[in-house]
Amino acid sequence: MNPALRRTRRAVRLGRRLCSSSSAAAASDPEAWDGRFRLHRPRGQHLLTNPRVLDEIVRRAGIRPGDAVLEVGPGTGNLTVRLLASPAATVAAVEIDRRMVDAVTARAADLGLAHKLTVITGDAIDVELPEFDVCVSNIPYCISSPLIAKLLFGRYRFRTATLLLQREFARRLAAAPGDREYNRLAANARLVADVRLLMDVSKREFVPVPIVDSSLVEIRLKETRPTEAAPGVSLDEWLEFLRVCFEQHQHQRQKKKTKKEKTLGTIFKQREMVMELLRRSPRAEGCHGKDGSVVVGLGALDDDDDVHDHENDDDDHCFSKEEIVAFKERVAGTLQSAGLVDMRPSRLSNDELLRLLRLFNKRGVRFQSCNILSPCL
Ligand code: SAH
Repeated sequence: MNPALRRTRRAVRLGRRLCSSSSAAAASDPEAWDGRFRLHRPRGQHLLTNPRVLDEIVRRAGIRPGDAVLEVGPGTGNLTVRLLASPAATVAAVEIDRRMVDAVTARAADLGLAHKLTVITGDAIDVELPEFDVCVSNIPYCISSPLIAKLLFGRYRFRTATLLLQREFARRLAAAPGDREYNRLAANARLVADVRLLMDVSKREFVPVPIVDSSLVEIRLKETRPTEAAPGVSLDEWLEFLRVCFEQHQHQRQKKKTKKEKTLGTIFKQREMVMELLRRSPRAEGCHGKDGSVVVGLGALDDDDDVHDHENDDDDHCFSKEEIVAFKERVAGTLQSAGLVDMRPSRLSNDELLRLLRLFNKRGVRFQSCNILSPCL
């Protein structure tokens, strides 16, 4: 499967899990009545109703005459009517709920602005998005991660995305190295975009009232394309490297452990980590099974793989003891020469992380899955 597609699917599954678990209210009261519709909380159906906030979002989006605007999750059209009334040439809205599609279409027709609106019925993560200059949306929060991954690393070239997001997520997305919230999401976003917080929006501005507050963020794409954003390494290599560096930090945060984030020296000393990298890195000669057949796929991770779940010592027979020791020294030596043994990933800029990754690659340590029949060099 194409790696970009695999990444997006993995993010989507993650998002869906989030969808069904993040709303505590959803478990007891999954629906709310707004006078016209039953709104489904698990679908993120929280309508923004304060006109001043809606106007401010459109103002902050900086729409220019002739712009093509994309909106994800228009709902009943509270934001859409304002986008239609802006200098934008067109508005394309992607909505999963048929009832909302009908509502927003009827509202645009009532205003005599139907000619500017195209509604795409479907899941914004799955559908092919049309070309757009700016994206302005109050999105369902359960698709925040996969949608942002799609916008940042997909084929889209837009000026800005002005998105209303769950406040904690927005703060993590806009965090800088050294900030308490800095993580893999922010590091990846910074590779291809500049992100800034525009304003906070209280949960009281929505119907039904959600359990979380919101913040508006602006994502401004950099000139460089995602494939060129990490010079000297492939984008997939970078994404995997970051996953490895930040994974434990993320696990600890999710479990609300107060443990300090590990240093790079500690992360790359763990046996499973070293074995996993050894399995992924190219080697001069093949590994042969007991019957003499070539053992393949040891380096290939499937979709749900988690580096630290790989305590598969059976694979170790593939490598000699000397080979393992030499590889371990190679990893440690690389960190030493980069001068980063005692550093924690969340304190490093992307330039520093990129320098380390290039050094690892130069010394034959690879992060992207690789096996002897499908070399990734
Ligand atoms: N933007 C509107 C509605 C926000 S509620 C407002 O501010 O009032 C979020 C909307 O996104 C709902 O209409 C919901 O049906 C829709 N939605 C949920 N999941 C979606 C998905 N995967 N793709 C597209 N739309 C989705």
